Amino acid sequence: MGPASVLPWPGMPNAILCITGSELTRGETRDANGPFLATRLSELGVRVDEVALVPDDPALLAAAVRRAVERAEVVVLSGGLGPTADDHTVRVLAEVFGRGIHRHPEAEARMRARALARGYTDETIPANFYKQAEVIEGAEALLNPVGLAPGMVIPTARGLLAVLPGVPREMQPMFRDLVVPAIRKRLALEPPRILRAKVLGMGESWCEARVQRLGIDFARAEYGISAKPGELVVKFIAHRREDHGYLDEVRRLLEGEFGQDIHVLPEGLTDASGAPLDVEHSAIVHALLLASGITLSTAESCTGGMISKCLTDHAGSSAYFLGSVVAYHDAVKERLLGVPRELLERHGAVSAEVCEAMARGARRAFGSRLALAATGIAGPGGATAEKPVGLVYIGLAAEGPGGEEAAVDRSLFVGAREMVRHAATVRALDLLRRRLAPR
Ligand code: ATP
Ligand code: MG
Repeated sequence: MGPASVLPWPGMPNAILCITGSELTRGETRDANGPFLATRLSELGVRVDEVALVPDDPALLAAAVRRAVERAEVVVLSGGLGPTADDHTVRVLAEVFGRGIHRHPEAEARMRARALARGYTDETIPANFYKQAEVIEGAEALLNPVGLAPGMVIPTARGLLAVLPGVPREMQPMFRDLVVPAIRKRLALEPPRILRAKVLGMGESWCEARVQRLGIDFARAEYGISAKPGELVVKFIAHRREDHGYLDEVRRLLEGEFGQDIHVLPEGLTDASGAPLDVEHSAIVHALLLASGITLSTAESCTGGMISKCLTDHAGSSAYFLGSVVAYHDAVKERLLGVPRELLERHGAVSAEVCEAMARGARRAFGSRLALAATGIAGPGGATAEKPVGLVYIGLAAEGPGGEEAAVDRSLFVGAREMVRHAATVRALDLLRRRLAPR
């Protein structure tokens, strides 16, 4: 006997996704359909048990489909509906379900009209063109509003199999407009309430230990934690309607425990337009800066402009972001930011003293109300006994009641160069968040 399942929601419908394409299994193309479908299904209240990538091979595809329909109420298959020799989906499904193949008259008529409109004639349309109009008997055909090949919904013993084109911009509207209603019709769904929060400034094990202390009932709210450089996301999912209200209590417990170290994200996984909710830390800080009307500049050494990049990724950042000096060389720190040479010589470029002078210098140079500075050792070289790889100072200069004030934060990040630079960027942005949204 294997290990026991810890999924405490036995009544919940499940799904297996079969994402086809040899360019995906070879690693040439990154799968976009699995994440899209998994997000939508999770929000609907369908538990995704597996996202399988399958190469363009009839035998492997047939095995994957047989296995999936035996195990899951919802199976979604994407790809392989096109006209080329590597598109096997319809033939494989006909064999698996023991059905015939026919051309969908409406799809065929639309394809012909489109080809004629482009100047082709019945004689010059290649025979394989109409392969895309094929569907299997007994399937409900889903007309493709963007491309040519229709999709299908095939009833299965447990639920249904939805078959969609691989091209993401064809697949997405078809799933949303045609497959979701078919799933709803066939299965009783209970959409979950999803609460996510960023936890900043501590390691995963520390955060986990503190969450475990809160006495949260994990049978009422599925719990998970994921780590990115410099930040964690904790999530709680209440699958049953009667547990939705419990998340308010979970939120209160988290806010009480973590105070300013936590930032609760908007609920759910997607926004009103269906796009994934932007959980980038810079998006949160961007919104706070926009709302505050406070201007910002940066002086960046080890982050090489990443802080500026992350903020200017967001449209509208010109309302608050004035500019940056990427001050890599000491002479630039001295000349453009006015860092005294004596400070550089006495303490070194990676020091609290120089970091503070950089922040003050940026504020002066740009005339901004706030200025951030970052200096550190991203590695792999450059470390000394007192200054290890991962040591980063972040300075924040601001207008205080009695004139300019500056604070310097010292962190020791773990990981390789990119991780250190990312973590430093998140930390810098987070110091802004703490200042702009004090609790
Ligand atoms: P077509 O009529 O274009 O052949 P199809 O339904 O047969 O459509 P595929 O042949 O599997 O779909 O894929 C066509 C193209 O769509 C791929 O070359 C790839 O660029 C894109 N694509 C397919 N599946 C995915 C996926 N899972 N993630 C990202 N892109 C994909
Ligand atoms: Mg194809």
